[in-house]
Amino acid sequence: MGAGALGVTACAQSDNDSAQACADSQTYNWKMVTTWPPNFPGLGTHAQKLADYIQTASNGRIKIRLFAGGELVPPFEVFGAVSQGMAEMGHGAAYYWKGKSEAAQFFTALPFGLSAPELNGWFYYGGGLELYRELYAPFNLVPFPAGNTGVQMGGWFNKEINSLADLEGLKMRIPGLGGEVLARAGGTPVATPGSEIFTALQTGAIDASEWVGPYNDMAIGLHQAARYYYYPGWQEPGPALEAIFNKDAFDSLPPDLQKIVELACSAVNDQMFAEYVARNGQSLEQLLELEAEGEIEIRKFPDEVLIELRRISDEVVQEIVNRDPAAEKIYASFEAYRKRTAKWTAISEQAMLNVRDL
Ligand code: CA
Repeated sequence: MGAGALGVTACAQSDNDSAQACADSQTYNWKMVTTWPPNFPGLGTHAQKLADYIQTASNGRIKIRLFAGGELVPPFEVFGAVSQGMAEMGHGAAYYWKGKSEAAQFFTALPFGLSAPELNGWFYYGGGLELYRELYAPFNLVPFPAGNTGVQMGGWFNKEINSLADLEGLKMRIPGLGGEVLARAGGTPVATPGSEIFTALQTGAIDASEWVGPYNDMAIGLHQAARYYYYPGWQEPGPALEAIFNKDAFDSLPPDLQKIVELACSAVNDQMFAEYVARNGQSLEQLLELEAEGEIEIRKFPDEVLIELRRISDEVVQEIVNRDPAAEKIYASFEAYRKRTAKWTAISEQAMLNVRDL
């Protein structure tokens, strides 16, 4: 309150120096709500890092108190809470908000869509960020990309997947568009919160579950609940996490603080991806040891399964585009970028990675 009162006094002065002093001394006490369990590795820890970066870089002018999922609002009410100003900011993933707008899913991941570096190219240099802002503006929200897990794993299975027929009746935890695709392939997708996956898989309530990748999957013990670990994670090839800001709160910041917020989001976007690359490698080493001991098996999905899932994915996405004008506009940009970028990826990253270990 003291700082605020001083700010008001300074603001009452009419000269420019005092107006600047007012802006410099104004402090903001913000709340951040997230969709993650407290301190969840990678996702929750980077939400905290985002708060810390903004607070430190602003020299304490913005103070942020983080609330894990359920502490202030339930995980899937983050969007509404920030939209209404109950909290000034939130951290989560856009595809959780498909009930508000189906088009939001394009800003997290589409099955067989973009890798993390490709998606960032679309956001920052391909028109994606402008479309993201436009989609969220009617909700009084300003979104920023703020993290990426990189390509995920296909998931943990207690049944072998040797052909399309093995998807028939498969009960699997797989949210979002991936779940819709599985359903059309004959499976039964279920939406199990991360905290309940281990028990559901271990007790046989579900046959399979995707979550993230070795780092996060081992953190919840999935390697002890299923035998087969399939790749690749066709359902989430490079999903983006997001930071969302209440537009009134964001607009109330002076330009230097707005820039700090923007740069902190960008830093977290890069660093989360870097962490996943490094930690997935470490965790995979442990999984390979378990595989050598005969405890688990790491397998690639058969090509015929991946090709059919890709065909169905195109069908599911096309239906969304046909019924939602916002999705149609965003998809036109996304798809033009994907086609163009895929040609470059093919002769750069893809070609290099294919020959690296020859
Ligand atoms: Ca996932």
